[in-house]
Amino acid sequence: MSQKVRVRFAPSPTGPLHIGGVRTALFNYLFAKKHGGDFVLRIEDTDQNRYVEGAEAYIVEALNWCGIPFDEGPGREEAFGPYRQSERKHLYKDYALELIEKGHAYYAFDTSERLDFHRKDHEEKGKTFIYNWHNRLKLTNSLSLSAEETQTKLDAGEDYVIRFKSPQDQEIVLNDIIRGEIKIDTNVLDDKILFKSDGMPTYHLANIVDDHLMEITHVIRGEEWLPSLALHQLLYNALDWKAPKFAHLPLIMKPVGKGKLSKRDGEKGGFPIFPISWNESQGYREAGYFPEAVINFLALLGWNPGTEQELFSLSALIETFSLERVNKSGARFDPEKTKWYNHQYLQKKSDKELAFSFIAFLQNSFTSLPESAVNLEYVTKVVSLVKERADFVSDLWELGNYFFEAPTSYNEKAVKKQWKENTPQLMQKVAEILEVTEDFNSATVESNVKAWITDNELSFGKVMGPLRLIIVGELKGPHIFDILALLGKEESVGRIKKALETI
Ligand code: GLU
Repeated sequence: MSQKVRVRFAPSPTGPLHIGGVRTALFNYLFAKKHGGDFVLRIEDTDQNRYVEGAEAYIVEALNWCGIPFDEGPGREEAFGPYRQSERKHLYKDYALELIEKGHAYYAFDTSERLDFHRKDHEEKGKTFIYNWHNRLKLTNSLSLSAEETQTKLDAGEDYVIRFKSPQDQEIVLNDIIRGEIKIDTNVLDDKILFKSDGMPTYHLANIVDDHLMEITHVIRGEEWLPSLALHQLLYNALDWKAPKFAHLPLIMKPVGKGKLSKRDGEKGGFPIFPISWNESQGYREAGYFPEAVINFLALLGWNPGTEQELFSLSALIETFSLERVNKSGARFDPEKTKWYNHQYLQKKSDKELAFSFIAFLQNSFTSLPESAVNLEYVTKVVSLVKERADFVSDLWELGNYFFEAPTSYNEKAVKKQWKENTPQLMQKVAEILEVTEDFNSATVESNVKAWITDNELSFGKVMGPLRLIIVGELKGPHIFDILALLGKEESVGRIKKALETI
């Protein structure tokens, strides 16, 4: 029987999740669900100095909002817990000691002053200081010292670190599902620190120990971790463990120029960079995005279905997703496209669902509202007339505010162009036609007004332009007769009369 797929998303709680992190979580989630596997959240909080209060709760809330909750993790404890590395502290040292015993790691006592000295000294000579096979015997560690000297230092409680003994003169072959085979000359690797005398493991040790103990089958993470892959593979080999399969996702790139998408790009370009807000930074949720739209655009950042299809529900993504179709090269972020996605999802919603959200938006934005703005039936009709042009629920206000309040001013430029000498007369007549129209629906009003225009050989433009201006305040909006019908006879006639007094 093949092993059950188990993947993990392993953020460090050093701040809010960037949408790149959400994409990593999403790809893990999709892969797990596609293969009937488990999606684990593991909090990698071994670096206490970088710990940020509230970051873990933020991560959980963001995943939930996106609709990609974890199966196992903090608060959802299963057999593989605990899921915070700080609560697993006691587990790691034994593995570091096992590596020493097997000859794959060693104690190092070099003080930070000494190491700084070497670094500076190398820099001055135009070189980079690397702690590895070529100089480790000249430094202070259990390989250069005798067993007794080492023991004396340990007994005296001297600070130490445990370093991995990177092999010399070997070529290791790494396999990445996305990038294929990668060959590395071990001579370029440094002897990374695995464990510190304060009792804390470093990222590398904790990460591979936990992936092993949690029976992770596939490690799907950002490209920035590719340089660690050789060390991780060597650690698995050294501990005689079967390594999981690896997939390193391409970077998400700036909308313009070179480099990785950053928080600053969002600030400059006026688009969110976080899924939900963090302090002053507005998130996609607060900016009015639907989680389905966010998931959809993130999925296509680096993955392609191999067809022209762009719209995918979460279940369609689960069905279609494969790591083999993730690109190697960076994915350029396009803020305009994210709006396009939101537009698509907004159009798919029912008028009634949008009306609910729109009423909530209005209630949040204004202290007092006319009755019509909280009337579900009326708002639903407004939504049906204006939603076509909306990307966000908040756009509905900009597009349809005149359904709730009569214009208080009229677009000046348009007035100049539209308002002719005989316009008041024509509008007066339109008002009269509206008053006598019994069945005040769009089609009847339209046919009555148009009949009058044709009978009197008037120009359509000279009537429709000013009429729209009077009703809407500008030359925008849907079919004018639909607007009149929804506003009703009394309101429509009232607006014409008011305009005749003020323009
Ligand atoms: N804690 C690492 C991070 O913050 C995890 C990297 C990995 O997935 O191995 O991204």
